[in-house]
Amino acid sequence: MNRVCLVTGANRGIGLEVARRLARAGDTVVLTARDLGNAEKAARGLRGTVVPRQLDVADPESVRRLVEGLAYDRLDVLVNNAAIHYDTWQRAENADLDVVREALETNLLGAWRVTLALLPLLRAGGHGRVVNVSSEAGSLAVMGGGTPAYTVSKTALNALTKMLAAELRADRILVNAVCPGWVATDMGGPGGRPVGEGARSVLWAVDLPDGGPTGGFFRDGRALAW
Ligand code: NDP
Repeated sequence: MNRVCLVTGANRGIGLEVARRLARAGDTVVLTARDLGNAEKAARGLRGTVVPRQLDVADPESVRRLVEGLAYDRLDVLVNNAAIHYDTWQRAENADLDVVREALETNLLGAWRVTLALLPLLRAGGHGRVVNVSSEAGSLAVMGGGTPAYTVSKTALNALTKMLAAELRADRILVNAVCPGWVATDMGGPGGRPVGEGARSVLWAVDLPDGGPTGGFFRDGRALAW
């Protein structure tokens, strides 16, 4: 389709599959990973125009370097996919706050930081799409226990999604949160659905037409409760 797209945490899992499908569709994909070698290795395995770049979303200096090194006059799609700390079998009442802090640093502030840094390029394109890869675990409507650091980080990411969507509407940038479903990746573990299905859920929000929904929370194109 010839869009310029950037995916965070794209060296494995859902991010890699999203990058693969975008490149296959004819888009230019900036495939980022916190380790440049991993980004290059992943890019070699894909067909199409795939540009590997180092990006640690938790490191402001890395974000600054990435943006400085981008040779595009616009960005059409940003997929904030990178995340950590699916802290299963934990409880909020005795959580390790260092783990919570790390989860927030990557899953919330990482996405926020990267979005802000790329906003000028997203605005320049005139029809940006920002997809925050979230999780139903972060839904206040279904919230249970079990993954306190991860859950709080995704709830906060959902809140950020709504705020940015409202603020960027005038720039015709659509900002949505997407749950990929339970997916069999390193994070999801065995038993989840194939990675292609998770990627498809994310790509639904990437491929929204101009004037499409913004500020929503979706899985497989269907709205989820906040
Ligand atoms: P994986 O654990 O398989 O992959 C996570 C990716 O994020 C890796 O590429 C990892 O890089 C990267 N990453 C972690 N920290 C950083 C950082 N600081 N900077 C840049 N990249 C980083 O996870 P999934 O593919 O399963 O998950 C992708 C997204 O989907 C996440 O947002 C997750 O929360 C969400 N999700 C996943 C579900 C599932 O069942 N799998 C369910 C619901 C939501 P590295 O290789 O260097 O560690």
